[in-house]
Amino acid sequence: MGNAIIGLEVHSQLNTESKLFCSCPTTASEPNTAVCPTCCGFPGAKPVLNKKDVDYAIMVALALNCKINNEFFFSRKTYFYPDLAKNFQITQYEIPVGQNGFVEIEGRQIRIRRVHLEEDPASLVHEGGMGASSYSLVDYNRSGVPLVEVVTEPDLESPQEARKFLDALLTTLNYIGVYSHGESVLKADCNISIKGGARVEVKNVTGFRAVEDALEAEFERQKKEVAGGSKMVQHTRGFDAETKSTYEMRTKESDDDYGYVSDTDLVKTHVDEAWLAGIMKRMPELADAKAKRFEKQYGVKGYDAKVLSSSKVLADIFEDCAKIDAVIAARLVSRELLGILNHNKLSLTETKINSGGISGLVSLVKNAKVSERNAKESLIRYALEGIAPKEFLEKNEMLIDVSLGELERAVKEAAAENKDAFSEFASGNTKSLNFLIGIVMRKMKGKADARQIQKILGEMK
Ligand code: ZN
Ligand code: MN
Repeated sequence: MGNAIIGLEVHSQLNTESKLFCSCPTTASEPNTAVCPTCCGFPGAKPVLNKKDVDYAIMVALALNCKINNEFFFSRKTYFYPDLAKNFQITQYEIPVGQNGFVEIEGRQIRIRRVHLEEDPASLVHEGGMGASSYSLVDYNRSGVPLVEVVTEPDLESPQEARKFLDALLTTLNYIGVYSHGESVLKADCNISIKGGARVEVKNVTGFRAVEDALEAEFERQKKEVAGGSKMVQHTRGFDAETKSTYEMRTKESDDDYGYVSDTDLVKTHVDEAWLAGIMKRMPELADAKAKRFEKQYGVKGYDAKVLSSSKVLADIFEDCAKIDAVIAARLVSRELLGILNHNKLSLTETKINSGGISGLVSLVKNAKVSERNAKESLIRYALEGIAPKEFLEKNEMLIDVSLGELERAVKEAAAENKDAFSEFASGNTKSLNFLIGIVMRKMKGKADARQIQKILGEMK
């Protein structure tokens, strides 16, 4: 652990169909087509709060062990910039949806200060390169898109721990159904200081990986500054993802500069018992609880249980397949399948993989209808080409359709033709075992299960 003091403000989009305060869609292909007087800030246009976004924010706050405020409201955060047509952002300042929660990372509690809702500003598109010919375009499609902001206390002690925290947070958001790994955009403001030094905020870091990179770069920079005798001054920096370095933006603004005032166009939100109870009923089982249950219910090892619970889609696929055989399902999903996805830099959602395809393969493996090697080959094809394993194995005649009698004959033949190897195997030599399995495999043209061959050989000893 380093001696860094880190606090994060993480913004994640909530995937409701319409924006936070108007009925414009949250997705659009052409610039400035998903817009209306409200999200463009025309005078007199009135915002109306999207209830589904409140539901989501409450779910996030509950999952992070926060206290839910039964009454909260929205405020205007004033600043002047082309991405903000109204000259203020509607956000929550005085009373957020939830507060005082925590997340546990490897036995350590990271306190959550608050969870609140706010609207995203528009996006600026910079054109024309650098210099005098450069100009910027504004796309208001993003203006008013719902965001949930999670603010931690400065409890994180190193950039690595910050990454672990983000990992846990994003898994939670994924379970609630508001975040897709590899698809959803995450933006974080990262506050970091060295013990005793002034706090530096690295603003608007985009993406999960970039947060750790930005923190690492800024931590190293501060260490060098301090070692060189400089005194740290509180200020705001940006992060350049290409050079992996931070750069000075401006001296830090304070909350006073934003001149928060409550938004009188919006009514207060009251969360009564019935509303909260309804949400609690709909809360999904979260990753930690699921991992523990997988260990208990299916006898899955701790590491595998954690990996299998790291995303909801993956956990659901495993659980469907575990009904057939939990041990085979755990091995095929957490080791083989994830290995293939990582190797090809694919996320599960980018493939056509579903539990029907995987459970078909689990059945075949369980019934010794496919060799380990062909099972793996079929998983690779499934991930890359989307052909279900069973279909692929059938089409390529890779299924084991020979009788046990035929296999026994081949094993006996192999043993008789290789007497030395067989007696070495009988006295415990694994090399000879693998050699004999190879001979039988060749005789059977690959349509045999190595474990079954080993079993027959064992009975012949
Ligand atoms: Zn709108
Ligand atoms: Mn914010």
